[in-house]
Amino acid sequence: MGVTLDLSRAPAPSRDTGASAPTNLTGLSRGELAAALVEAGAVPKEKARMRASQLWRWIHHYGVTDFAAMTDVAKETRAALAGAFSLARPEVVERQVSKDGTRKWLIRMAPGVEVETVYIPDVGRAGALCVSSQVGCTLNCTFCHTGTQPLVRNLTAAEIVAQVQVARDDLGEWPSPKEDRRLSNIVFMGMGEPLYNLDNVAAAIDVIADNEGIAISRRRITVSTSGVVPQLAELGEKTQAMLAISLHATNDELREKLVPLNRKYPIAELMGAIRAYPGLSNAKRVTFEDVMLKGVNDSPADARALVKLLAGIPAKINLIPFNPWPGSQYECSSWSTIEAFAAILNRAGYASPIRTPRGRDILAACGQLKSESEKLRASARRKAAEA
Ligand code: SAH
Ligand code: SF4
Repeated sequence: MGVTLDLSRAPAPSRDTGASAPTNLTGLSRGELAAALVEAGAVPKEKARMRASQLWRWIHHYGVTDFAAMTDVAKETRAALAGAFSLARPEVVERQVSKDGTRKWLIRMAPGVEVETVYIPDVGRAGALCVSSQVGCTLNCTFCHTGTQPLVRNLTAAEIVAQVQVARDDLGEWPSPKEDRRLSNIVFMGMGEPLYNLDNVAAAIDVIADNEGIAISRRRITVSTSGVVPQLAELGEKTQAMLAISLHATNDELREKLVPLNRKYPIAELMGAIRAYPGLSNAKRVTFEDVMLKGVNDSPADARALVKLLAGIPAKINLIPFNPWPGSQYECSSWSTIEAFAAILNRAGYASPIRTPRGRDILAACGQLKSESEKLRASARRKAAEA
């Protein structure tokens, strides 16, 4: 697959459904879908709900991208739909497969609006898809490569759903299988801060979780946030998704250095909001993420402080070995340090898996997203200049 040379930055689209006409139907709710069909004059009002259900199954259960495939819809209606709407996938500009089975796609949503989506096998029930919610990020966490890239824009609901569709296309998982899926879990741990794009993230989750479509249950969808306190309750109420918190430090002084958002929402406020997260229980625990930075947050005292801070919260702790990127100011803790840290957590009764680095050969690990495409683009630019 080729490398893009288009370096332009597109303006934000004015509508939720994407930048260009015709409207792509993939990001719409069932109600919006019915309304769109009527508005376009493609379906009479009294048939709108029935038609919307029919289309829903074709789009989200069978994964079709062409109205012509909808064999139980009358020919004239199919032609009217094709004239008014689109089901096209965004362009996959690059696809990489790691020797460990990790897959990464660079998807171009619009000129200059590209996101990376990663499939990681053997995570969750069968395999997890790490999706992006924004292109770039406004938050500048000092260990994160995405944070060094300016925010281009929020992704629309359709663009978030499209990441799942592209992965399903590539994994050959249409129609949506009920059993033996390779793509069983979704994690919002790609590029961007999902709680700064909550409406579109929630709309996308409604589509992804729908039982007559992609049907990935809300218990298998995890939203990771750096701690946007005022949005936490809304996230739980709107999505019933599993919550992951990028904590990384147990005192405000250090957390402010790592996650500058902590200045706005300090740890005590964050912990209060987490305790109030709707539906929290032993069956529905919060995941705390801790990126392991050598000599920064990885001492036994840090581990004990973490145990103390989490007392009383149904929690899991995910230790993430730091993934370096060009120009990063940190190093990853040694394996023995991480193991010692995990042992303290285990003794306190916490499951604390160390996230084994996956897809490192294709730069698909946390915090590295976009770096490879930036590099490829730089090399393509060089080649173009030489030619
Ligand atoms: N913005 C959200 C979700 C995207 S980041 C958030 O911050 O939670 C997903 C996870 O990757 C976060 O836990 C983040 O702290 C972690 N991460 C970012 N850069 C990393 C790096 N270089 N190495 C390891 N983990 C990293
Ligand atoms: Fe943004 Fe998350 Fe990276 Fe922080 S860690 S800069 S919030 S993507």
